[in-house]
Amino acid sequence: MPGPGELVVRMEACGLCGTDLEKMRGEYTASMPLLGHEAAGVVSAVGEGVSDFKEGDRVFPHHHVPCYGCYICKSGDDTMCDMYRKSNIHPGGFSELFRVPKWNRAKGGVLLLPDALTFEQGALIEPVACCLRAINRHARNGETVLVAGAGPVGLMHAILLGAMQSKVVISDISAPRLEFAEKMGLGQVLDASKDDVPARLRAETQGRGADLAIVASGSKEAIMQALGSVRRGGRVCLFGVPSRGSVLGYDISELYNAGKQMVTSYGADDADTKAALRVIASNREFERLVTHRFPLARFDEAVEAAAGGRAAKVVITP
Ligand SMILES: [Zn+2]
Ligand SMILES: [Zn+2]
Repeated sequence: MPGPGELVVRMEACGLCGTDLEKMRGEYTASMPLLGHEAAGVVSAVGEGVSDFKEGDRVFPHHHVPCYGCYICKSGDDTMCDMYRKSNIHPGGFSELFRVPKWNRAKGGVLLLPDALTFEQGALIEPVACCLRAINRHARNGETVLVAGAGPVGLMHAILLGAMQSKVVISDISAPRLEFAEKMGLGQVLDASKDDVPARLRAETQGRGADLAIVASGSKEAIMQALGSVRRGGRVCLFGVPSRGSVLGYDISELYNAGKQMVTSYGADDADTKAALRVIASNREFERLVTHRFPLARFDEAVEAAAGGRAAKVVITP
């Protein structure tokens, strides 16, 4: 039973995220290790005092919701709000039913899914929103961009960047991921274990280097390649969560003298999730990323498929 102001949601689809795998391995550093944060479903019960949602509503509830009132929120850095990582759905998205706290609901963290949107598309809202936030803050139209990491979020970035007339180069070291990236046709694909990624980026840009690199991986090697691939004055956006103790052997004088910037992007807020919903509804490319679906009872197989790179986006169903 939901408490006052809460919702209970019946999960219909929940994306398996790279961070879920990191949490299971104990490598994740960004927040508490609660599994399943890309869930869409149907409201099965509403708590006392809830008038904005009713039983049967199709929804996407965001797991982390900022306060929108503190200094950090008002500065535009709302995913760094104290409350952002403290709020969560319980016990997470990989369960038949989960509870949405009053905080998440009352602060606008729950979106109604339009009838035309499938639950599977709803499960893509959170990762696409995180990518959109990074791109809205750090990318400009028509640039040459290296996306380091061809996992699901790397390919989501590639779709969004392609829609901005950017020239996209995607790199990875995993053979199945490289193969899938080629098949998606979202940009030039490089094997970072063989190709000289910085040199290839320079060759694409009359010797300059990429304008921007988005590191959709937590790997130190990918970060180093990104730093080497951007032009003077270029930007490296850390998007994947680096594991604890990731110390870079990088000469900071090179960063300074080449005027490079290292920026980060974490999470998504209400505006990002609303924008993601619209983008997913109008661009069918995102659905092509879902290659595997597993019911909750076969969760272990889902993890195996995702961890091995055999699957692109994995979606868990009830
Ligand atoms: Zn995620
Ligand atoms: Zn705040």
